[in-house]
Amino acid sequence: MSSKRGLLERLNAGEIVVGDGGFVFALEKRGYVKAGPWTPEATVENPEAVRQLHREFLRAGADVMQAFSFYASDDKLANRGNQAQSKYTGAAINKAACELADEVAKEGNGITCGGICQTPTYLSGLGKEKTQAIFKKQVDVFVENKVDFLLAEYFEHVEEAVWCVETCKASGLPVCASMCIGPEGDLHGVPTGECAVKLAEAGADVVGINCHFDPDTVLAGVKLMKEALEAAGLKRHLISQPLAFHTPDANKQGFIDLPEFPFGLEPRILTRWEMQKYARDAYELGVRYIGGCCGFEPYHTRAVCEELSKERGKMPEGSVKHDPWGEGLLMHTKPWVRARAKRSYWENLKPASGRPLCGAFSKPDAWGVTAGDENLKQQVEATQKTA
Ligand SMILES: [Zn+2]
Repeated sequence: MSSKRGLLERLNAGEIVVGDGGFVFALEKRGYVKAGPWTPEATVENPEAVRQLHREFLRAGADVMQAFSFYASDDKLANRGNQAQSKYTGAAINKAACELADEVAKEGNGITCGGICQTPTYLSGLGKEKTQAIFKKQVDVFVENKVDFLLAEYFEHVEEAVWCVETCKASGLPVCASMCIGPEGDLHGVPTGECAVKLAEAGADVVGINCHFDPDTVLAGVKLMKEALEAAGLKRHLISQPLAFHTPDANKQGFIDLPEFPFGLEPRILTRWEMQKYARDAYELGVRYIGGCCGFEPYHTRAVCEELSKERGKMPEGSVKHDPWGEGLLMHTKPWVRARAKRSYWENLKPASGRPLCGAFSKPDAWGVTAGDENLKQQVEATQKTA
């Protein structure tokens, strides 16, 4: 008999729930996911790699084990241009994702989550009914496999996000909704605060932002959401899952438009100390589901948990090999390195990039709003005829 407490029980009790990190980027770097289609079939092809990453995030202190189901909808799997389509159905990939998340969650005090994200069907303008049918196929697998809650995430258009929340809500499970937008609003021009109100009115229990921007930008957007929800008299929990990359120069579409996306982003990675600041800022804003997205590695999650260890009443298991402000360096043989074993040193460090020919900022591409091109629309329609 499980005594596991669910997401809303934890949040309603005022607890902090720590989310895990960006599986797509982490597994791409490890050689199990291809950038572009972001091949979620890793859950079937290399389950040991996905399981190990779950374990590392759990050890780093994450409470949520999110099934690795990003872009595992049948329309997205079919949308691979001239390359071979995925050998696996969305259902098979999602089922394997649930089993891996559940297995590792049980090794700790984790809760599992099924994520559903933006679809080519919506971008191709095929309408509400077809888009919701795509969402429902994923939701059905998550419900069958007994995830603890659903996360409608990574939406650029609030219209599609609301449709997803409606489909998720019908399952009876708790629903989180997070959009990949910044303070400038969604890609149809709906203000960020208004997006939050629409998601809450559609039935989302937790509302916020994930991906596309760095922690400062994401929290600026979540602040607008919080203010709009309060003004509308809607009480909802807040979620933030930013990038682990600095994006002060990104435009409205976020890091996708930066020339470094996705293979040259390394100079922008946040240090663990910068991640501690993110955790504190999110907490002070009132965010209680605090996690990460692309670029987050387990040590970033550990930094979030270490910063909030007093509030959470515990340190992550992974801190056995890490003293919060580098005190382990006191055992270093070089005296000048030993001198770095303190908070004031790391908190005030301005790390150099080591790249003398690089500027601090880039000029983003500006292709405009993502929309389905004719090629994409034909592929999606062809899939739906055969489905
Ligand atoms: Zn992301």
